[in-house]
Amino acid sequence: MLLGVHCSVAGGLENAFEEARLKGINTFQIFSRNQRQWKAKPVSDEERRRFSAAFKKSNIKVAFSHCSYLLNLASANDALQQLSVHSLTEEVERCSLLGLSFCVLHPGAAGEQPKEQAIRRIISGLRQVIKNTRKSKVVIALENTAGQGTSVGGTFENLRYIYEEVESKRIGFCLDTCHAFVAGYDIRTEKGVEKTLNSFDKICGLKHLKAFHINDSKGDLGSRLDRHENIGKGKLGLIPFKYIMNHFPHIPKVLETPKEEDGDEINLKVLRNLID
Ligand code: FE
Ligand code: FE
Ligand code: ZN
Repeated sequence: MLLGVHCSVAGGLENAFEEARLKGINTFQIFSRNQRQWKAKPVSDEERRRFSAAFKKSNIKVAFSHCSYLLNLASANDALQQLSVHSLTEEVERCSLLGLSFCVLHPGAAGEQPKEQAIRRIISGLRQVIKNTRKSKVVIALENTAGQGTSVGGTFENLRYIYEEVESKRIGFCLDTCHAFVAGYDIRTEKGVEKTLNSFDKICGLKHLKAFHINDSKGDLGSRLDRHENIGKGKLGLIPFKYIMNHFPHIPKVLETPKEEDGDEINLKVLRNLID
């Protein structure tokens, strides 16, 4: 059973492993850099050594990163798009150095331009990054979005189209339960979650699914409101999580729920109790 949380790297990247140990998890997601800034300090040899040593001593089976929120491969502004290509290239390189298997990416936001054009730009941006990092095995996992504003990736069809056009084994997917629900996929019932995941399998392919983001939702079905809630305390209830825990033990599942008041510990316990 691969289960974990988004771990903090405050005070050093290797600190994620200490949080993981305390929480008894075997997979995690981190920000490998300050996610709200364009500039990232390169990983030093010392940092890399400390990270690898902690990794080896840990029970972590799969570790991965989430890209900076500033990235927008879809940007109609050439300078911003190129900055995004550069930053994603760096992220892939950081993952390679640190032994992280993949990085999760929000495909992008169209802004004023037509969505088709935005998607073309995402595809060309991804092709550049794959080319820039050809020696790397690190996968870029496209995350389904809440479909808010002009964001691309609220539908499985959007994700599939990008995957197909980039034509690389190094593109995969990450499925966020909260985003899927607020984007219109009704996963509240066993039938609903089964239907949604079957359709994901048909359109995107479960074999390309690198991770689940396990989040309950404050927003309603189709609301496009990206607000995560503690497991079982939001609009989703426990059914979709029970389904995912029991059907996908070997896919990494990480929480991105509020950490206050032992949030992670409680949510992990709730999830473990759902295992048949
Ligand atoms: Fe995300
Ligand atoms: Fe997410
Ligand atoms: Zn979210």
